[in-house]
Amino acid sequence: MGDHKYQKWVQKENVVIEGVDISGEWNRMWEPREITSYDLTYMDKVTALPGGESMDWCYQCAQCIPVCPINQVGSYGPRKIARKLQTGMNLFENADLWLCTTCMNCLRVCPKEVDMMKIMPAVREQAILDGNVPAELQEMLQNVAEYGNPMGESVRKRVKWLRNFDGQVRVLTEEENPDPVDVLWYVSDYYSYHPRGNDAARSMVRVFNKLGVDFGILGKEERCDGDSQRLVGEVGLFEQLAEQNDENFQKYSHNRLVVSDPHAYNAFKNFYPKVTGHDYNVEHYTQFLAEQVDAIKDLFTAEFPRKVTFHDPCYLGRHNGEYTAPRTLINAIRGAEFIEMYRIKEQGYCCGGGGGGMWLDSLVADHTTERLSENRVKEAIEVGADVLIVCCPYEVSRFEDAVKSTNNDGKLEVWDIIEIIDLCMGNGAAA
Ligand code: SF4
Ligand code: SF4
Repeated sequence: MGDHKYQKWVQKENVVIEGVDISGEWNRMWEPREITSYDLTYMDKVTALPGGESMDWCYQCAQCIPVCPINQVGSYGPRKIARKLQTGMNLFENADLWLCTTCMNCLRVCPKEVDMMKIMPAVREQAILDGNVPAELQEMLQNVAEYGNPMGESVRKRVKWLRNFDGQVRVLTEEENPDPVDVLWYVSDYYSYHPRGNDAARSMVRVFNKLGVDFGILGKEERCDGDSQRLVGEVGLFEQLAEQNDENFQKYSHNRLVVSDPHAYNAFKNFYPKVTGHDYNVEHYTQFLAEQVDAIKDLFTAEFPRKVTFHDPCYLGRHNGEYTAPRTLINAIRGAEFIEMYRIKEQGYCCGGGGGGMWLDSLVADHTTERLSENRVKEAIEVGADVLIVCCPYEVSRFEDAVKSTNNDGKLEVWDIIEIIDLCMGNGAAA
């Protein structure tokens, strides 16, 4: 050993290399590294909640970590949360509680079925009851409770997008004894109130009319679908919204409910029936239109000669298994070159807006290196697309903001599929 080459090396007490502290005994790596001192106070509180049970099923295999979108811009994922809970973290008062977008990618790969879609709403519900809710989220919840939409806009303004618009729309709630419609179209908050959503809403009307769809809307009586509010733990508010919307769904006779928003689709299909006892014949608008793709193609008079890519919304894709309908419509667009991104379909990357993320921008910014929408926009540009196509009302404004904040102005446009269909039917640029 005397002339061993390592003998000339000197052990220092305090050593930091590239920001990593490696001070201490060099042989520490051979010492047992498992945690021997547990504090399960808050783990027990989480698993005692209805919905929180699966948190301690985690056996630290770490398969969830590389697929978690938050972990790709920070440090997150069920394995890490489980470990922190085993060592005493109070999740009820920790930012980790609000970072999860409930995108479902971890559950897809978890061998133990640790279910963040149940754990997060359960713990958040308790945190809200305890008064521990981020201020920006609290404001959104108050707006929804008071006005029926997260923007805090008046009920009257829900139909403002119809002013100075010559598209034919039946507002069923303004008719006396209205005849039944084939399609009751649930417009959604962002289509109703956000300027870029208004563009898509008007496109939807023009496309429906060109296709001869017999449709109507609820106008001022429509309310927020409540799915994001359910996922941030406001179960009571969700139930109230479900009952209000259901009352109108029952009152206005229709064959099918067509929705603009994947979050509404998820709520009506999977969660309203548990509250109202009614089942809904619900379709996302891409599903409804994909059934009529031949008729749509026959109505096209213009091409869209652009390189396009598509972002799968978590709540249409992973949560409800629909990957084909949007692609059927995109592939029908004449002149477009469709390039897929790397993270698609089951492995699609989250935009960051789900599970309350839409209203937690400051909190997320404090705990990540970039917004998820920024990470996604860079991927769209990297694959060579000049148009990012979306079909969720949250996403047009989210991604347009991300294009600006990543200094990619002019390199990528964001369009809702319905706007492109509308354009190709000869109705002029919507954006
Ligand atoms: S995949 Fe499931 S079991 Fe494995 S570390 Fe993640 S949460 Fe734990
Ligand atoms: S649901 Fe999505 S954001 Fe939440 S922990 Fe799982 S992978 Fe991460």
